[in-house]
Amino acid sequence: MSDTKDARSMTLSRRALLSACGVAPALLAASAFAAPPKVSQASVGFLDAPRGDKQCGNCRLFRTPSSCLDVQGPIGEHCSCRIWLPNLA
Ligand code: SF4
Repeated sequence: MSDTKDARSMTLSRRALLSACGVAPALLAASAFAAPPKVSQASVGFLDAPRGDKQCGNCRLFRTPSSCLDVQGPIGEHCSCRIWLPNLA
């Protein structure tokens, strides 16, 4: 009797483990492709003005019409920050 309970318990545990093994890699794969969190404007010295010829409109991270891949919030083409990168395209 006890052996039957143990065997059933092991079957359930094995089933739970196999189920978890199927879900965990899917979750890891999904998180690997998730975009990293954006940083605050304050942390990168965001200005509502260009820095010389450096401005969001000619930065590699700018996305029209008004966003940045790395910095939070609405971003205007005429703005700038300390992590500006030249647009090589
Ligand atoms: S200068 Fe570039 S990195 Fe900085 S906020 Fe503008 S688009 Fe983003």
